[in-house]
Amino acid sequence: MAYTWKDFMNECENCQACDLAKTRKNVVVYRGAVEAPLMLIGEGPGANEDEEGLPFVGQAGRLLSLLLDAYDLEAKDYHICNVVKCRPPENRVPTIDEAHACKPLLAKQIRFAKPKVIVLLGKTAYTFFTGDNITPISKVRGQFIEKNGYYIMPTFHPAYILRNNNERVTLWRDIGLVRNKLSELGLGEPLRTLPEMPTERPKKS
Ligand code: URA
Repeated sequence: MAYTWKDFMNECENCQACDLAKTRKNVVVYRGAVEAPLMLIGEGPGANEDEEGLPFVGQAGRLLSLLLDAYDLEAKDYHICNVVKCRPPENRVPTIDEAHACKPLLAKQIRFAKPKVIVLLGKTAYTFFTGDNITPISKVRGQFIEKNGYYIMPTFHPAYILRNNNERVTLWRDIGLVRNKLSELGLGEPLRTLPEMPTERPKKS
């Protein structure tokens, strides 16, 4: 029998591949659409995500949603997930072993989501995908890497923007490039007018 999305979700929910399984409240798999032209990959769930079982639902996630919404990107257009599916205690960066333990699930997830464009949010996702742990994200962001039929763009993590609001415009422009790439590929209507960057600061949870 074919391995379905439901099988995949079950596999995630029962996963014990690393010690993060011992401390998680919920496995955090995705939000948005199962199959979507755009995939956004962050680092790992925080406290809010662990509580709700959904990625990017805290302050950083609300900032991300604000920017996506402004570009007319809706839940049907994206699949948001993380390098690891369980919360690292104290919100620390996932270890290489934890990321590797989670890799087979992320590989399956990408096959189900079938994205054309993949956005790597922050250094953890960038390093995990490319193996490059030297180049600062500020040097590689905003440029597409074409690999295995995907257009991959590293950019700043929205949590970084919450701490450095002067860089919001950079993340905004990068998402704009992603938005243009999707319409160039025939995967979204071209924007009729250039939207204004939202300037509000989402509240802490
Ligand atoms: N930061 C991440 O990298 N992922 C989340 O899901 C939330 C915050």
